[in-house]
Amino acid sequence: MRKVITVFRNQKEDSIKAENFLREKFDDKEFFITNELTKDTKIIMCIGGDGTLLEGVHKFDFPNIPFLGVNTGHLGFFQEIRPNQLEDFIDSYRKNQYTIQELSTLEATFKGEDSKDITIKGLNEIVVRSPKIAKPVHLCLSIDDTFMENFSGDGIAVSSSAGSTAYNYSLGGSILDPELDAIQLTPISPMNNKAYRSFTSSILLSANRVIKVAPDTPIWDNKQNIKISADNLEFEYQGVGTIHIKISNKKVKLLRFLNYNFWRKIKEKFL
Ligand code: NAP
Repeated sequence: MRKVITVFRNQKEDSIKAENFLREKFDDKEFFITNELTKDTKIIMCIGGDGTLLEGVHKFDFPNIPFLGVNTGHLGFFQEIRPNQLEDFIDSYRKNQYTIQELSTLEATFKGEDSKDITIKGLNEIVVRSPKIAKPVHLCLSIDDTFMENFSGDGIAVSSSAGSTAYNYSLGGSILDPELDAIQLTPISPMNNKAYRSFTSSILLSANRVIKVAPDTPIWDNKQNIKISADNLEFEYQGVGTIHIKISNKKVKLLRFLNYNFWRKIKEKFL
């Protein structure tokens, strides 16, 4: 039976060219190239940048099928190859010469205003923030059942190891070795004065911790609106209860060449 490669790509000319090349070269007796996810899909190929990979992960709802990132984007931190390495990679794949990097993902669960259970999943990070640029958000933060602080500021970002190089890094958080399966809680513009006091640096938590974030609505405010984002998706809610954020049991798998090295990639992309 032919091995199914499901292609998801952005609209860039280079991405279209890469898909066409793949179809011309490999849609043969051995591989079947399609844009649909099928029960026989062996590889989900995301052609674009990291943003395209994130979109693919959400579109296919965090499947248990490995992704291969083909970089036609800017940075391409998740992406393993460039289009000119497609033949090389397929050749290595045929010979079983590849490795699979498993990335932890995050989930946020809470009750919406109508008491409906809501779950939001993220690969990079889950952010809870004020929907208004001119208004800080007020949150009660707990770790497991220990109340930690009343946070006031723009919001908080909870990142996975994989997301440590994304928004977290711009916020002053640390890059995490992916072998450290940890959660990073990073404040976004925390307020620190006589009225409000919050952590100013990020906190690293072990993978089994649950971060609980509850809107701390001041009595002069009615119901605080809250924006929650997961990677490149945004949602706005009013009157939510406590948001539980933790590492989910879903992993995202990335296909890598055998010689993939996280710290070499950091050097290439960041230094
Ligand atoms: P985008 O506006 O197109 O680009 C965000 C940038 O982040 C791109 O350069 C993207 O790489 C890169 N990126 C995404 N995931 C990464 C990761 N795990 N490690 C290193 N870099 C990564 O938006 P997008 O591509 O849809 O990405 C959404 C992500 O943007 C969010 O998950 C969040 O982490 C990040 N973000 C960053 C800031 C900030 O730095 N101030 C603010 C908001 C959101 P490519 O160029 O290859 O696409």
